[in-house]
Amino acid sequence: MFKITIIDGYIDEPTCLGVPPYISPYPRYITGAILKQDKKNQISYYTIDQIRQKDDFSFLLKNNLIIVIAGTSVPGKYLAGYPISPNEIKKFLEKITVKKILVGPAAKHGFGIQGGRKTYDSVLLKNIFDLIISGDPEIVIKKYLENNLKTKDINISEKRKNAHSIKDYANLGSKIVKQHPYFPDYIIAEIETYRGCPRTITGGCSFCSEPAKGLPDFRPINDIVEEIQNLYKQGIKAFRLGNQPCIFSYQSIDSGKIEFPRPNPPALTELFSKIRIVAPGLKTLHIDNANPGVIARYPKEAETIAKTIVKYHTPGDVAAMGVESVDPVVIKNNNLKATPDESLQAIKLINKIGSKRGNNGMPELLPGLNFVFGLAGETKNTFTLNYEFLKYILDGNLLLRRINLRQVIPIPGTRIYDDIGDKFVKKNKYLFKHFKNKIRTKIEKPMLEKIIPKGTIIRDVYTEKTQGKLMFCRQIGSYPLLIGVPGINEKNKFIDVKIVDYGFRSITGIPYPLDVNTASRETLESIPGIGKKRTNRILANRPFKSKEELKKSLDDLEIFDRILGFVKF
Ligand code: SF4
Repeated sequence: MFKITIIDGYIDEPTCLGVPPYISPYPRYITGAILKQDKKNQISYYTIDQIRQKDDFSFLLKNNLIIVIAGTSVPGKYLAGYPISPNEIKKFLEKITVKKILVGPAAKHGFGIQGGRKTYDSVLLKNIFDLIISGDPEIVIKKYLENNLKTKDINISEKRKNAHSIKDYANLGSKIVKQHPYFPDYIIAEIETYRGCPRTITGGCSFCSEPAKGLPDFRPINDIVEEIQNLYKQGIKAFRLGNQPCIFSYQSIDSGKIEFPRPNPPALTELFSKIRIVAPGLKTLHIDNANPGVIARYPKEAETIAKTIVKYHTPGDVAAMGVESVDPVVIKNNNLKATPDESLQAIKLINKIGSKRGNNGMPELLPGLNFVFGLAGETKNTFTLNYEFLKYILDGNLLLRRINLRQVIPIPGTRIYDDIGDKFVKKNKYLFKHFKNKIRTKIEKPMLEKIIPKGTIIRDVYTEKTQGKLMFCRQIGSYPLLIGVPGINEKNKFIDVKIVDYGFRSITGIPYPLDVNTASRETLESIPGIGKKRTNRILANRPFKSKEELKKSLDDLEIFDRILGFVKF
């Protein structure tokens, strides 16, 4: 029997997210491996944020083994947790004389520090770890435990036989979610449906690490459903089918034979409908990546699948499409997956099926677009073309939930790493900075105004983090909107908000309905048209027992009518 601690330093890969509120499959599968080796093994799970709060790390010495999950190969901006850095690993673990293992993207490709910069090689941490696992952690860890923690004969690059072979690990490991600090309310399980990309046949996109996983190996429908059933039984109510390169290509026909295999709508219907049967009270069911090249090539199948998603999912969902660039030179040089016309077709199709507003205030399903900069062939014209493409979408009243602009991280093993590295990132650094600002002001803000018109009520946003007098809140799901709520300070609860204003990437909302007798000064001032003077008057005259009493204290009937749209007594 072993005593093992898992430190979740969080991961962010192109096809998998594990930064809170997300819990990735890594800690779950690893737990499954540990319990499969011996069900009496004791496992403690800590997030890196929990470790950061400790002054004394001697509790780690009581373990036989410490497993660190780490690595952001596509680092983003995070609100609810911040991924572990190589320096923190040294600080927390260098003096801990217990066997230690590093797993995750950091162990496979190094630590992604920020867009445009080369990764930090995990070999530099070899003095700290007994094993740095480049294969599948659950497979290697189980063998390591069976080998009584001896590294001899352990193949650190060993991989699973096939997608079905992780079934037991996924099911047994579901219980670890209970140790997550955000359990049970604010946690969402990232679910794997397959890995590998069909475009591996042609080498895939120049910057992407997914082709290194080979051709798609689909998890059987019932394996995925069983894992969700187990997670649901533990108490998980939010799920994202996000761990795959394209949800529309799940179980696609002739996958492995052609670059863009035909989607398989019946498989998606079976998957989604079965999930709803085993998790009837789920609160979130979202998706992530979708290949615009697949959607455009097979519009009939894609439309059926989009309808299926909208039928079974929860609103506020995002199909994140890797457009990467609409410059034909960059597309050709980097073997990207879609032409500008194909991307546009895919955007139109998702809008057609998903733009209707759902019961939580958000449109059902919208496209998100990912752009990557620093690719081979990029010139000033690339930025112009990308801008014109986005402007065309905005002017054409098509909706985009998210525009993700990032500079490429040259990951070892990708074509870009060997061919050009960060040459174009450095060369076009200022063009990128300028482009980003232009998109924020000229595209994203007006787009937000279209997606969430003023007065929209957004349901179930979680009060997450305060910054000055502002509380940042989000719904739980795929790329949730960041909502700033002025003047509230109670964290960790779900509230409804009414939207009153827009920033570039976030929006402002106030609690809805608002109790005018207890609301703070900052919240009252945020109601459109109220301002400082009327807020002072409200504060001086409350409590109000009725609308009439409030009416008397205000000087303007129009303002009174407007306030009535926000408040309760
Ligand atoms: S289509 Fe391109 S970006 Fe998407 S998984 Fe395949 S290689 Fe990666």
